[in-house]
Amino acid sequence: MRKILITVTAMLVAGIALHAQAPPSVTAIRAGRLLDPDAGRILTNQIIVVEGTRIRDVGPNAAIPAGAQVVDLSNLTVMPGLVDAHNHLALTYKPEPESNIYYYTYVAESTALRAIQAASNGIQMLASGFTIVRDMGNNGNYADTALRQAIEQGWIPGPTIVNSGIIIGGMGGQFFPTPEMAKDHNIVYPEYLDADTPDEIVKAVRQNVLFGARVIKICVDCKPYGYTADEIRLFVREAAKVGMKVEGHVQTVNGAKNAIEAGIWSIAHSTGLNDEMHKLMAQKGIWRAGTDTPDNLAGHPVSPQAYQRTVASLKNAYENKVPLTFSTDADYYVAGKTRGEVCLEFLKTWKDAGIPNADILRAITINGYKVSETEKTRGPIEAGFAADLIAVPGNPLEDVDALRRVQFVMKDGEVFKRDGVMTPAAFFHGGPVNGWRIR
Ligand SMILES: [Zn+2]
Repeated sequence: MRKILITVTAMLVAGIALHAQAPPSVTAIRAGRLLDPDAGRILTNQIIVVEGTRIRDVGPNAAIPAGAQVVDLSNLTVMPGLVDAHNHLALTYKPEPESNIYYYTYVAESTALRAIQAASNGIQMLASGFTIVRDMGNNGNYADTALRQAIEQGWIPGPTIVNSGIIIGGMGGQFFPTPEMAKDHNIVYPEYLDADTPDEIVKAVRQNVLFGARVIKICVDCKPYGYTADEIRLFVREAAKVGMKVEGHVQTVNGAKNAIEAGIWSIAHSTGLNDEMHKLMAQKGIWRAGTDTPDNLAGHPVSPQAYQRTVASLKNAYENKVPLTFSTDADYYVAGKTRGEVCLEFLKTWKDAGIPNADILRAITINGYKVSETEKTRGPIEAGFAADLIAVPGNPLEDVDALRRVQFVMKDGEVFKRDGVMTPAAFFHGGPVNGWRIR
C-alpha cells in the first residue's frame, strides 16, 4: 500500500513538473540605442534576446531564435530600469485633509486601504520606469510586505520591492504622541516598533525578519537621546545574521557620526550630513540616500533656503565621491502627477547640484542595484540577469529629462508598457502563479 502511494505521489509530482514545463516564451528586442550606464556610453543597433523571465543574449549580432516575438525599439534608447532607493508606497499624505502631517494619515487610513494605495503606487512607479523600489517603512501593519508578496507571487504588476517592514526606533518613533494616545490607544503602533534596550533591539529586528522585511530601517536620532554607535552595531550584527543590511534615518550630525562609526549600510536624508560626514561616508563606502526634495512640487512647498541647503549638500556629497543613490522619500500627493512622475521631478535637484547626466544615470540605475543588493541578479542588461528594461526617446546622456518620457517597460520578461501606454494584462492572475510559498 505504501509503495503504491509513493508511486502515485511520484506520478503526480512528475505530472505537475511536466505541466509546469511549457517552453518559455522568447522575445527579441531591437534596440536602436542601448545605454550602458556603467561605461556612460550608448551602443547602437543591439539585439536583446529574452527567454522567459531572463535575458539570454545581448549584442549587435545576437541571433534571433526562430519563432521569437520581435519588439521593435529601433527609434528608442533602451536602458536598465530605474531605482528609487527610498520611498513609502503605502503612505500618501496630502495637503487635504491632513495638512501634509502623516501622523493624521496614519490615524485616518487603515493598513488595508494603504495596501491598496501601495499596489496602485507600485504600478505608477513601474509605468515611469522604476523596476526596483526600496520601501523604507511607514506602511502601517506590514503593507510593504503584502505588496512585495503580491508582486512576487504574481497577482499584480509592480517594481521589485526591497522592503523594511516597520521602522525601529526609540519609544514613539518619529511621532510625539500624547501619553493618552500612545499608552491607552497604542496610536503610534504599528507605524513604529519600539526598541530602547539591547533585548528590544534584537527582538524588533527578528520581528521584522519574521514578517517579511528584506532590509532593516532604524530611526537613529528621532528622539533626543538617539542610538549610540554600540546600539547601532547591535542592529547591524543582528540583521547580518540573516544577510540583511541596515538603513538609518538620520537628521543630526551626531546621529550621522554614530551611524557611520557603526558601519551602517545606508543613511537616509541629508540634514545630518556635512562635509566631514561626507568624507567619512566616502572613506567607508556608506550609501547616501539623500532624499533630495526639489522646490517645485505643488502642495509640498520647500523654502528657498531649505532647497539651497539640499542642493549644496548633494553637490558636496558628489564632490567628496560619496556613493550616491537616487532616492526620493516621495510619499505625498502632488495634484496631477502619478507617484512615478513625482519621483522623476527629483531630477531637478540633481541637475541644480551640477551633477553630470552620466553620474545621475549611474545613481538611478547601477548604484540603485548595489544599494538594493540585486546587482548580481537584477538590473544590468546582460545575459543571465532578470529581464527588466525600459526605453526612452532621445539620449539621456545628453538630456536626462528623457527619463520622464518612458515609452516601454519590460519587467521579468513581460511587456508592461508599450508605445507609452500601459499594457499590464499579462501581470494579472487569479492566483499566486509564481507560488504561494513566496513569503
Ligand atoms: Zn522616508
